[in-house]
Amino acid sequence: MEIMQGEMLYEGKAKRMYATGHPDELVMEYKDSLTAFDATKKGSFEGKGSINNRINAILMTALGELGIETSFIRLLDESRALVRKVTILPIEVIVRYEAQGSLCRRYGIEPGLSIDPPLLELCLKDDALHDPVISAQVAALMGLATSDEIALISWRALVIGEKLREIYGRWGIRLIDFKLEFGRFSPADGSASRVILADEITPDTCRLVDAKTGEKFDKDLFRFDLGDIGAGYSKLLERLQDSAG
Ligand code: 5GP
Repeated sequence: MEIMQGEMLYEGKAKRMYATGHPDELVMEYKDSLTAFDATKKGSFEGKGSINNRINAILMTALGELGIETSFIRLLDESRALVRKVTILPIEVIVRYEAQGSLCRRYGIEPGLSIDPPLLELCLKDDALHDPVISAQVAALMGLATSDEIALISWRALVIGEKLREIYGRWGIRLIDFKLEFGRFSPADGSASRVILADEITPDTCRLVDAKTGEKFDKDLFRFDLGDIGAGYSKLLERLQDSAG
């Protein structure tokens, strides 16, 4: 079915959102740009938007089949997907299985430390404040979400993490950590509003390595100039597509 792409409602660092003719649906367009360190480091590579669009579609579809409600509806073309219109909760939910990145920087923890049971962190989604870690109480105090919603997204992130680990594991890929965003979906027909998984799950938002060789497939390649990010993202997509059939 042909989708009417209307006015641009939002432009972020990696995506643009457009209205459609349907009140509950938006077009999500992936850009080729990428940023790191609160957008102080900027870059891009041709094909990045299309790779992330397809990786996200594979992962969100797999999660949907496992019973997780997500904002993803379907792919439209190379760089666009149709998604549910949600109000994003300004909380980044991070789950970690191994110490890397900001966890090591913040606390002086040795990178590579195994984390079992997984660590859940909530961060305030605010680049100007450098996305600080916040407690569930502070998040509720600030009115970012209700206490019940915060409990729900925390629990759900851990469940989604187990499913993602299993999905990536099938492809011989080890998930080190990831970030999720959730949104409040309030259908225009007045049916019950609910919080669902939104935004994206891509190598921009996950740390991923080959389970055998340790080869990296994620945005750290760009953040820390560790190698060819285009090659890393392409290899990841090829692997996911191979196994997805
Ligand atoms: P860290 O806190 O170590 O920088 O990130 C932990 C995990 O969450 C990594 O997989 C990272 O990609 C993801 N993450 C954390 N904050 C952000 C963010 O603001 N944007 C994106 N794209 N990913 C993030």
